[in-house]
Amino acid sequence: AEKARADFLANASHELRTPLTSLAGFIETMRGPAKDDPESWDRFLEIMYGQTERMRRLIHDLLSLSRIELNEHLRPNQKVDLALVVAEGVEALVPVARDKGLELELIQSAETAPIYAVRDEMVQVIQNLIDNALKYSPDGTAVRVEVSAGLDLEQARTFAGRRWPNAARISIVQSRPDPKARFAVFRVSDEGQGIDHLPRLGERFYRVDEGRDRSVGGTGLGLAIVKHIVARHRGGLMVESEMGRGSAFGIWLPLTSQSSSVPEPVPRDEDK
Ligand code: ADP
Repeated sequence: AEKARADFLANASHELRTPLTSLAGFIETMRGPAKDDPESWDRFLEIMYGQTERMRRLIHDLLSLSRIELNEHLRPNQKVDLALVVAEGVEALVPVARDKGLELELIQSAETAPIYAVRDEMVQVIQNLIDNALKYSPDGTAVRVEVSAGLDLEQARTFAGRRWPNAARISIVQSRPDPKARFAVFRVSDEGQGIDHLPRLGERFYRVDEGRDRSVGGTGLGLAIVKHIVARHRGGLMVESEMGRGSAFGIWLPLTSQSSSVPEPVPRDEDK
């Protein structure tokens, strides 16, 4: 734990130092060599603004992570309708998708999905996953968000992350086995290039492709936040990905005492 904490601090400092060094460099340039060249200032200011935004996102994510860790032992106790929160999350991001030339589609096969949760944390999970799908997908492709409820553990795992026969997959968070439990599930899938190395996903500051992922404004903390929140809610998180086909992130969370939804057959690709 000590080593992990030290590594984390070193990484966080490094992540903050990079934009700070860049800012200091531009300030120096504007005071020195570019002092009499105000035409170049607009361009410099634009880059400097980008760097401050990056620091702002990083600090926001670091604070989220520390707040979640602080409350990790408290049981979430707000009654939340996951189906509604997912639908609202999708609605909020439709304009972002449209700006990027992507289609964002919601497929809801349960009207309600009552869970005990911290609402804001659920919103964050949904946002982070959809945000990633939008960030790492090429123009003209579709991002699909599916919600269901009333599934047992095996059905939930299949719905979340066992749908593409040729994909690689990994369980990042496992829920406790309970034969009586029923789950609410949602899955965000994209048509991006896919992730060729899954095992380290969810580690803080891990990026699959350093250059690309920084350039789209990632902090490397989004999935670590998702992982913590799901664990705190006693749910599960699974990822499947296939190069050239896309990636899918699925989450299941225990429903409040037996909700009345009837389990639906889980769609498999072969059935479509
Ligand atoms: P970031 O803020 O950099 O996006 P995350 O923790 O959310 O950080 O994700 C970690 C890394 O996982 C990303 O940098 C990216 O390489 C990869 N990743 C996450 N989601 C996807 C996705 N939908 N498609 C492809 N790669 C992804």
